[in-house]
Amino acid sequence: GGKLTGKVALVTGSSRGIGRGIAERLAADGAFVVVHYAGNAAAADETLARITAAGGRAVAIRAELGVPGDAEALWTAFDDAVAAAGPAAGIGPGLDILVNNAGISTYGRIHEVSEADFDRVFAVNAKAPFFVIRQGLERLRDGGRIVNISSGVTRIAFPSTTAYSMTKGALNTLTLTLAQDLGPRGITVNAVAPGLVHTDAADWLNDPAAAKQGAAYSAFDRLGEPADIADIVAFLASDDARWITGQYIDGTGGALLG
Ligand code: NDP
Repeated sequence: GGKLTGKVALVTGSSRGIGRGIAERLAADGAFVVVHYAGNAAAADETLARITAAGGRAVAIRAELGVPGDAEALWTAFDDAVAAAGPAAGIGPGLDILVNNAGISTYGRIHEVSEADFDRVFAVNAKAPFFVIRQGLERLRDGGRIVNISSGVTRIAFPSTTAYSMTKGALNTLTLTLAQDLGPRGITVNAVAPGLVHTDAADWLNDPAAAKQGAAYSAFDRLGEPADIADIVAFLASDDARWITGQYIDGTGGALLG
């Protein structure tokens, strides 16, 4: 069995991109994975198909984040899915690993960001994880794991994503604060900060010139892959990382080191 055999994981936004990579890796390590998506059911099905083809176990749930009642809807769907799949999969209610990955981008320097865009990006990237955790805590078992997907732009100034960067800064502070609060329950809380990863959210990297320029940020002179991030998350989710909490893990491939 893998390192996560017997564990149940929820990965928000795992129909595509980095979240899909995380879901695949946690399932490969033996976890029963609840794949979450907002509206792209076909993409969620593709994630399930990949996991199943690799011998893993997963189900998918749909819930739009960034709208009133989002966390409640997510957890209701989670409870229902686990109750339906649980007996056959040998799992009970609740979970061991929560990965807050779902997020959206907002581009623009400060004078270009509208109030509506600001509110939307905060609702999805900062408010939703807060309430997903708040309402998930009664379901998360002692000794569990919370991993929040942050961004390298909280440590490296990118004026063209000011509002987005702020949401991830809020997530970093939530990570630090919760790590202290949940320590007595043996729950670790950490943030992983990707650099540039070629996903739908970063489709401007489809342009070869932009991709070359983006790759050059990394000491390794390449863009990140979802698997690069997923492997870090899998480590934090494992028992090997039990003594690591409240940390910000740079997953930028050594971006702008000097
Ligand atoms: P993608 O756009 O490729 O995937 C986003 C995922 O989140 C999808 O599964 C999508 O579901 C889901 N999602 C988006 N909006 C919502 C919503 N309102 N409610 C519920 N689910 C939603 O993004 P990435 O894989 O690139 O990004 C994943 C995380 O990594 C984000 O938090 C992002 O900020 C962060 N990140 C990404 C970087 C990059 O270069 N790509 C760099 C640094 C951080 P559906 O398929 O149904 O739409």
